[in-house]
Amino acid sequence: MSPVTATALHLSPKTIMKSRLSGSRLSLHTRFALGIGVVLLPFLGVAALGQSYLLPRLIEPLEDIIRELTEEMEPVEHLQTTLLQVSMPVNDYLISADPDERLQFQQLRQRVELAFKEASPEHFTKEEERVLIKSARAEWVQALVLGEQLLGLPSPIGNIEAAQDMEVFDAHLDRAVAALDKLSTSFYHELDHDRAEAHNIRTRALQTTLAAFVLTGAISLFAIMVLARSITRPLETMRQGATKLAQGDLSHRVNISSHDEMGELAAAFNTMAMRLEADQVALSELAYRDSLTGLYNHRSFYTFLDDEFARSQRFNQTVSLLVLDIDFFKRINDIHGHLAGDAVLKELGELLLRDLRNIDRVCRYGGEEITVILPGTDIEAATETAERLRTEIEAHAFDINTGAPLHITVSIGVASWPTHAKNAESLVAAADKALYQAKNSGRNRVVRHEPTSSQPQNPA
Ligand code: GH3
Ligand code: MG
Ligand code: MG
Repeated sequence: MSPVTATALHLSPKTIMKSRLSGSRLSLHTRFALGIGVVLLPFLGVAALGQSYLLPRLIEPLEDIIRELTEEMEPVEHLQTTLLQVSMPVNDYLISADPDERLQFQQLRQRVELAFKEASPEHFTKEEERVLIKSARAEWVQALVLGEQLLGLPSPIGNIEAAQDMEVFDAHLDRAVAALDKLSTSFYHELDHDRAEAHNIRTRALQTTLAAFVLTGAISLFAIMVLARSITRPLETMRQGATKLAQGDLSHRVNISSHDEMGELAAAFNTMAMRLEADQVALSELAYRDSLTGLYNHRSFYTFLDDEFARSQRFNQTVSLLVLDIDFFKRINDIHGHLAGDAVLKELGELLLRDLRNIDRVCRYGGEEITVILPGTDIEAATETAERLRTEIEAHAFDINTGAPLHITVSIGVASWPTHAKNAESLVAAADKALYQAKNSGRNRVVRHEPTSSQPQNPA
């Protein structure tokens, strides 16, 4: 009827807001967002560290190996250059027969020997490389024998045989250089291949870590967002529900279907709201109804009458009022006791409710006086209704638990608006006056208000 609203309790939304638990000023959304940031920050740090520090450290040893291998090839290159130089003094000796050329040859020979030592087969890991260096050395040994022979010739100039040997000497050296060429070519091929592979590995590692980082970041972000949503959404629903409840809307229920703690909280909240609503209805009933008869009480009567007056004026309808009083009710109490009197009052209330329309308002005005508001009913129809009630009550056997049925009569005063009154109070006064007339003229009758003189309608 009249919900216990926040206004009634003087609770403004501001007050409700203030009554919230004090603590963190940050909303859950903000806290979750910060939480995500804090979780992802170390992750980002590790990724950045990996990219800028760890990955290069991983690649560095590989590059060192490549550098070392390149350095290993230096003796081979040196050997090649020395071998290309060593034929010059022999050639020059055949042309000039200058004994100085022998000395130069010896010096170059020593350098070749030294270079062969530095590029000895055991320095090479692959068998084919060792074979190549050995074959270069074999060619050198043969060239050396020939070189020594040629430089040992006393008069080499114009010597055709020496010239032929010189060609063989050069051919040996060429083959030695060619073997070394082959060695370095294959080595550099391999090195290029290894370098390309290292570069590929580095690129792949970078791409993989980047992809893993992006993927893990996205998954973490998504998971955290889903988690946050699964908590903040029902929380928001609960917050709105609690606010509505605090503002007095006890019919509000929260709809959270999950079976987790939030679902349990929502169920508990709904049970609490349901109980509050039921208690409020019960309280309203207590405030607006009479506890003995269940009829509306004196206060409700005036509220209904005011409402009915306002409605009747708005729609230009008539409204009638009956004031009913049990005749000689005191005697019933005196003879059968107050409990019997109570039982009569209760049963009379039930009888009236049964006989009247739903829109009619039956109220216990006080004691054994009952008022009935008849909306949209003129004086004629109201008098007829009153007379019907009077005869039914007169004929009704009341059960007062004595075994013998009890019969009572009632007197009823009738008045209508706008015929007999200007307002609610004068309408009650007019009906009351008519009731007084009914009592005075012998009881058990209906009297309708007459402005000048009241006449009994149904003298008993
Ligand atoms: P009249 O015909 O003039 O109305 O006579 P009456 O005896 O009905 O009138 P009176 O005003 O003298 O007595 C009313 C009685 O109603 C007195 C009171 O004890 C009784 N009464 C009022 N309320 C209750 C109630 O709730 N229960 C019972 N049992 N009696 C009540
Ligand atoms: Mg009475
Ligand atoms: Mg009375």
